[in-house]
Amino acid sequence: MNVPFLDLKAQLPQVREEIEQRFSRIIDNTAFVCRSEVQEFEERFAELHDVQYAVGLSSGTDGNHLAFLCCSIGEGYEVILPVYTFIATAEGISHSKAAPVFVDVDEKTFNIDISKIEEKMTSRTKAINPVHLFGQPSDMNQIRKIAEKHNILVIEDSAQAHCAEYRGKRVGGIGKVSSWSFYPGKNLGAWGEAGALTTNDEEIYRKALKLRDHGSEKKYYHDLIGFNYRMSEFQAAVLNVKMKYIEEWTEKRRLNAYRYNQRLSEIDSVIIPSVLDGVRHVYHLYVIRARERDKLQAYLKENGIGTGLHYPFPLHLTGAYSHLGLKKGDFPMAEKLADEILSLPMYAELTEEQIDYVCEKIKDFYKK
Ligand SMILES: *Cc1c(COP(=O)(O)O)cnc(C)c1O
Repeated sequence: MNVPFLDLKAQLPQVREEIEQRFSRIIDNTAFVCRSEVQEFEERFAELHDVQYAVGLSSGTDGNHLAFLCCSIGEGYEVILPVYTFIATAEGISHSKAAPVFVDVDEKTFNIDISKIEEKMTSRTKAINPVHLFGQPSDMNQIRKIAEKHNILVIEDSAQAHCAEYRGKRVGGIGKVSSWSFYPGKNLGAWGEAGALTTNDEEIYRKALKLRDHGSEKKYYHDLIGFNYRMSEFQAAVLNVKMKYIEEWTEKRRLNAYRYNQRLSEIDSVIIPSVLDGVRHVYHLYVIRARERDKLQAYLKENGIGTGLHYPFPLHLTGAYSHLGLKKGDFPMAEKLADEILSLPMYAELTEEQIDYVCEKIKDFYKK
């Protein structure tokens, strides 16, 4: 049996015709950037996450960048983020000219370790930037409590957490502003690059609208030095069609995780994902911790099973952040996780047979 790590083709039959119809309409209208599809996307995506405003962007990384600019966080300030995330989270901070300050992560949830945040704060700390890693919300009440105590902002990175919930509230509207990605492999994925910001703050919303389009809301009235971070009509069209199915796909991911959990929990050498009380984990990735991880990964590959490593290096050990002078041993939990994690195939269209096959092969490996 073959179980690819990601199978974008499996989703095509469900959405292809509707997307092609919308593509045809875009071509007929020759209106390609930030028009009716993007407007529809912004309204519906905001509604989906119970937040007042959404701004469509050209990628999630742009969203990371704009989030800080919109909050006037730049040179001379520090932003706290987990050391264990995709690099775009840190790039957003660095490109805004603020300084990223890494914090180790929690062994159970892989998210920022709340107990280690305050010791990293200085008088220059302006925000905490939690990441809802793998689709599991960070502990937002605890984070908000710390932020309120120190009078700083919370900026969410929700790139992996479409439709995830923390105590009944969708992510993306809990902090001051949130960035989103619709990279093709994300839970809600475009057919190219796309991203967004969401916020309940009208001023931030207006600033994001301007910054994504050369500092202007009205053509040639440039109030700010901005960017071209505009969203393509084609990408918005893909997302508008897919938004109809996202709840269904999310439930399917959760069922798949449940099936994995049941079958893998009996294996001593594997630790299954743990979920915080009161959160809806949306399993962008299903990440286990495994003894002899590299050998297990090779064995699964030999048996036709694709897997991934998210992520092999905590950010302090990347070349990009070597200038911070951090070293091995500074973030022991993230370093330990990086050596043990393994992402198993996870998407809505995964079949029960495929999941059972993956679990059987993992069992076989540890029996040998
Ligand atoms: C994917 C991702 C991003 C960046 O999104 P792009 O659309 O690829 O630019 C940012 N943060 C996290 C946590 C991500 O997973």
